[in-house]
Amino acid sequence: MKKSLPMKERITVTRRGFLLLNSYCPGLLKDKTLYAFAAAIQPLASIWISAQIINELTETRRIPVLFGYVAAVIGTNFIVQLLKNVLNKAAAEKEAQMWNFFEKIFSDKAMSLDYADLEKDQVQQARKEAHENLFLFGNGLGELVWSTTGLVSSTVQILTASSLVITLFSSASGNTVMDSPLWILAVLFFIVLGGYANSRATHRENHLFERWCKDSVWFYRSFSFYSQELSMSLERAKDVRIYEQEEAARRAFQYMTAKDREDAGAIFQMSLYPALARVVIGVGNSFCWVYVAVKAFLGAYGAGSIVQYIGALERLGAGIQDILFQITDNAVACTHLKGLFAYLDIPNHKYNGTLPVEKRAFCDHGDMDYEIEFHNVSFRYPGAKQDSLKHVSLKFRIGERLAVVGMNGSGKTTFIKLLCRLYDPTEGEILLNGIDIRMYDYEEYLSLFSVVFQDFRLFSFPLGQNVATDTDFDPERAERCLNRAGFRERLSHLPDGLATCLYKDFDADGVEISGGEAQKIALARALYKDAPFMILDEPTAALDPVAEAEIYASFNDIVSGKTAIYISHRLSSCKFCDEIVVFHEGAIIQRGSHNELVADVTGKYYELWHAQAQYYTADTL
Ligand code: ADP
Repeated sequence: MKKSLPMKERITVTRRGFLLLNSYCPGLLKDKTLYAFAAAIQPLASIWISAQIINELTETRRIPVLFGYVAAVIGTNFIVQLLKNVLNKAAAEKEAQMWNFFEKIFSDKAMSLDYADLEKDQVQQARKEAHENLFLFGNGLGELVWSTTGLVSSTVQILTASSLVITLFSSASGNTVMDSPLWILAVLFFIVLGGYANSRATHRENHLFERWCKDSVWFYRSFSFYSQELSMSLERAKDVRIYEQEEAARRAFQYMTAKDREDAGAIFQMSLYPALARVVIGVGNSFCWVYVAVKAFLGAYGAGSIVQYIGALERLGAGIQDILFQITDNAVACTHLKGLFAYLDIPNHKYNGTLPVEKRAFCDHGDMDYEIEFHNVSFRYPGAKQDSLKHVSLKFRIGERLAVVGMNGSGKTTFIKLLCRLYDPTEGEILLNGIDIRMYDYEEYLSLFSVVFQDFRLFSFPLGQNVATDTDFDPERAERCLNRAGFRERLSHLPDGLATCLYKDFDADGVEISGGEAQKIALARALYKDAPFMILDEPTAALDPVAEAEIYASFNDIVSGKTAIYISHRLSSCKFCDEIVVFHEGAIIQRGSHNELVADVTGKYYELWHAQAQYYTADTL
């Protein structure tokens, strides 16, 4: 078992946990605290009034007083129960919502992280562990919420029970031994012993629970992969059937069920320790009862007081047990909270400059005239053994059409990622109008680019919102962009036009779209942004030949006046670009126009061109 944190650190971590809870789930702790307070008071109020009734019955028997007590029992219970119900409703509603707010903690962090950090294995692992612990077992923040209730009710219980039990020691029985103040210590000793036994049991139980949690995380991951990802994902359904993965899933389930049976042992052990603690608590309680009974026998108090003292001592014991349990359990909560904070504290490494892009006096080019230069840029992915880009130097100006070609893994997409500052170069620099791009305000810098990534994603929102990436948009402009991207025909058949939802996540009437249609919408989204640089990574890979031909025919119109950077495997589609650069193993090995490159019979471009050309008729060349 991991050593638990020192008390000082636990206090700091717990405090931070409460602050986080309050900022994401405002009011939750307040409602839970009030509810716990009311819930803890209720039984003790009943014990006290019941004792008074019995005393009255066995001693003075005053009928009006008895009625007064009965009315007090009924009235107190009614009021406290009503209050409890109201508070419980409010708290339960907030508690049900808290899981959504916990998700928001994770999504806020993911949004704020640098893309480069987001991709790192350690970051993903830290997120996964913190997330699974919180959502599978409520470890960390969930525990804080529940322990707040426990702490409040046990504190109230201890205070009120103590006040009900004071007269037990002050009532004289006439027997010097039984009236000795040492009995206070003896009773307290047995009560604390019960609490201690409970806390040790919790400690042992937590030890097993942590191990069990780890195994369960593995179980949960495997189970959700096989039961959801593999079996239910429509995207995988074809491959699962063709490659007969049902058998692999069946074997995995069999294995997991056997593992689950092994876990039954851990569950039994976890249940055993609290049961043993109950034995110690039972012995302690019995001692207290005997003490109360002997004093009553000696005439120190009446039958009603017996009920009061026994009830109060039991509540006092339970309160002390609970408080010790909360303190022990807090060690586990802190370990998990520390994991969560370790993830939340991952810093944003990206240097964010302050220069605005539009307001720059652009050398002698005038406004909106941009020049980008890669100056001896090398880049290695975090944890990779070799550079994915090697000494890349390249300059391009606004209005130019640049094609980037090369085999798979030659570094084309990495080049674009660096251009968009998703990563910073490991060596060399990228300049915008002669100034390192790190010096510009990042958001402003990003506003220069419209990108259609190869693995772009559309969202399950209405079509118009997808194109404009905003709920507030210009419908005419969105429609124009869709038309230019070749989506006119399909748009005319959509039931609600731009208001039609894509996919069915939010709307049962949402439409499913093909890969080619999605690519057209992604292109329209890039057009709508209307940024000076248009980057298209394999923009027509999912289109049919007719749609592809249409896009090429209107390519000049689509990218009019903008700098277009165009990545493609289909070399014939690069012919209309002003310049073609050929990437190979992370380096630029050739550059020039199509005619120049194809004339170099020893070059890579010639090789790639002829490898593809054999599949086309002579007139394609
Ligand atoms: P291309 O776009 O030309 O197919 P990429 O730029 O995607 O090539 O990849 C260039 C090289 O970088 C490849 O060797 C690839 O395996 C590696 N690479 C790409 N992405 C990552 C990543 N996130 N982490 C580590 N290596 C990567």
